[in-house]
Amino acid sequence: MTQTANAQTQGTQTTPMLIGGRPAYSSTGRIYEVRNPANGQVVGIVPQATVEDANRAVEAAQAAFRGWAETSPDDRAELLFKGIELLKQNEKEIVRLLSQEQGKPVFEAKGEVHHLIHGLTFYAGLSSKIRGAEVPLPPAMGKYSYGVLFRRPVGVAVGITPWNFPLTLMGTKVGPALIAGCPIIIKPAQTTPLATLRVIELLNEAGLPPGVLQCVTGSGSELGEPLITHPAVRRVALTGSSNTGRRVMELAGRDFKRVTLELGGSDPMIVCPDANLKAAINGAMVGRFWNAGQQCLAVKRLYVFEEVYEEFLSGLIDKVSRYELGDPSTPAEKPKVRMGPLHAEFQRREIEEQLADAVAKGAKVVLGGKRPEGLDQGFYFEPTIVTDVPEDSRLVTEEVFGPVLPVFRVKTLDEAIQKANNSPWGLGSSIWTNNMIWANKAVREIEAGVTWINMIHYGYDELPFGGVKASGLGREHGPEAVDYYLEDKGAVFGGLEG
Ligand code: NAD
Repeated sequence: MTQTANAQTQGTQTTPMLIGGRPAYSSTGRIYEVRNPANGQVVGIVPQATVEDANRAVEAAQAAFRGWAETSPDDRAELLFKGIELLKQNEKEIVRLLSQEQGKPVFEAKGEVHHLIHGLTFYAGLSSKIRGAEVPLPPAMGKYSYGVLFRRPVGVAVGITPWNFPLTLMGTKVGPALIAGCPIIIKPAQTTPLATLRVIELLNEAGLPPGVLQCVTGSGSELGEPLITHPAVRRVALTGSSNTGRRVMELAGRDFKRVTLELGGSDPMIVCPDANLKAAINGAMVGRFWNAGQQCLAVKRLYVFEEVYEEFLSGLIDKVSRYELGDPSTPAEKPKVRMGPLHAEFQRREIEEQLADAVAKGAKVVLGGKRPEGLDQGFYFEPTIVTDVPEDSRLVTEEVFGPVLPVFRVKTLDEAIQKANNSPWGLGSSIWTNNMIWANKAVREIEAGVTWINMIHYGYDELPFGGVKASGLGREHGPEAVDYYLEDKGAVFGGLEG
């Protein structure tokens, strides 16, 4: 990444940000390159925004706030629906941008764009269903007194997104914010701004008033922090790592801003002796290796009962060994390429170090474990399965954000749940069993925001999603996500007679 265009970028136009409804460039004139993780090619150039640009965007959002808050819910929904139509019409371009900047195969990028559209449609439909309440009150202070719960938009919101699912995680912020009546400024991850900029441009083209939905590009420290600390910002939604979450909460907490944090995870998956093994193997494979393992809710620790351990493991190895790595731009119609590169060199190095640590402590690599041959231009790493992993190895104690799956043998459900909970994180989790008593026990006892039963780890737009412990605070998805953009205000209508 550089701050000025070099020879390779000559001829590539800078994609502008969107501030106050207009294309915008960094007030310093700085720009940076976005590169394809599959081959290192420059796929775009964007402005490197700083504090002045953050201030410009917040001022525009503040100016838009009252008007947007007073727009009728039907009008807000109509604008969103119009924007969704534009996204559908431009789907191919958005998919290409996402695949190129992120490194995910085209068929996965297509899935993400569909998920974004589904999520925005869900919230557009919800716009006119937000309501308060009439509250009966005791008659002592007036026979006809009653309370009313009003729900007012919190104010200017900032949404900060990561690089692994740039679009869906932007949608889980934009949808609830806009229908609640809050203007929102999106700051995408530095390495994945292009698809986000295009989506936000299209949603604006539908006719959103200037300043209601903006996008600025740059780093967390230079741009993200000034956005969070600007006095007019009242709501901050972050999806990112737990370390970033700590910093963001500290900054926002100083001025008592409303914060939600969707952070890291180390999801356990438990496979019981009575499980449908074919379905569970599929669940583990997709759960761990989708998006090259770079998912917050990926299956990151797999606990298999000893009665079915050998059969499950050999079935899993057999399926995963047929996974094809390759160029993510392979057309979606032929989803032969199942896995692209990791998003960044740093990401691959970390995976290699975590794996080496486990092996040094006695773990056995039963599949993969290295960089594949013939794919030297990108940050590729083979889908990897590891057994005999000690509990104190980095594969267990840290978040593993790549295609490496440790598999453990367990004897009882209590042991599986105890090990599942032996983690700083608590995002997703799953149990694979037909025994309802075991399923119920897992739902009650696993410390996580979600437990899936006989189901791939997947975040539905309809159901609140989020974590406990170091996985975060608050919920996105579902109607509940809208609550975090609304302020409850009570009013009492007196009924004193005489
Ligand atoms: P990251 O924390 O490095 O960055 C996330 C975003 O925060 C980026 O836009 C970044 O620029 C910004 N940022 C960084 N430091 C900042 C600061 N001091 N102030 C303001 N903004 C700052 O995370 P990442 O590497 O992009 O994403 C991977 C992480 O995100 C993993 O830990 C993953 O588990 C997590 N994640 C969680 C969920 C969830 O829903 N819980 C979903 C996806 C990813």
